[in-house]
Formats: sequence, structure tokens, C-alpha cells
Amino acid sequence: MMTYVKNIGIEDIAPPERTCNEEKCPWHGKVRIHGFIFEGKVLKYSRKIAKVEIERYVYLTKYERYEKRISRILAYVPECLSNIKPGDNVIIGETRPLSKTVHFVVLSKK
Ligand SMILES: [Zn+2]
Repeated sequence: MMTYVKNIGIEDIAPPERTCNEEKCPWHGKVRIHGFIFEGKVLKYSRKIAKVEIERYVYLTKYERYEKRISRILAYVPECLSNIKPGDNVIIGETRPLSKTVHFVVLSKK
């Protein structure tokens, strides 16, 4: 059976296998992705919110070396992707503010 998913405007991300009817889901709901897209590791996951750790490298001209910077972002987990566990690599995308501290949503599991 074919399941209907929205075109979220990003080519190389595979849609989830399961469906849901949540409003805050980028594939089956109304939320749109705009802004940053990151790939990171899930540190903690409970109550539909995942804490995702992101690593990036910043070049320092004075020392001619790269510095590693780490940030942790809270991301909403829709019902169709609720099989993620701490330690998984996920892709998250920026959306409208979904709650006071959450403005990212999990797009897929790597
Ligand atoms: Zn969904």
C-alpha cells in the first residue's frame, strides 16, 4: 500500500515507513521546514522530545586549525518516527516554534 507523504522540499531525505496523523509532523502534518538542517546523535528521548547533539568545525585563522564546537538542540519527534533511541543518528530540520524551547523537528533516522 502506498502511503501519502508531503513533499517537504528536501531531495535526499527518505520519508519514514510508518504514517501518523499529527499536526506537528513534517511528512503527514502541517509543519514546514525552513532554515537549518543538521545531522546529530540522540542523547535523550522522552515525551516526544529528543535532545540531539551536533558537532561542527570552525576554522581559526590565528592558529590555522579547526576547533570542534558542540551544541545540543531539542527536537520534536512525530509519531511516525517514535522508534528512535538514544545513540541513533537523526536528521533534524528547523520549523516554527513548536513550544517554548523546541523549534526543530526530527525528519528521519540515519
Ligand atoms: Zn508522520
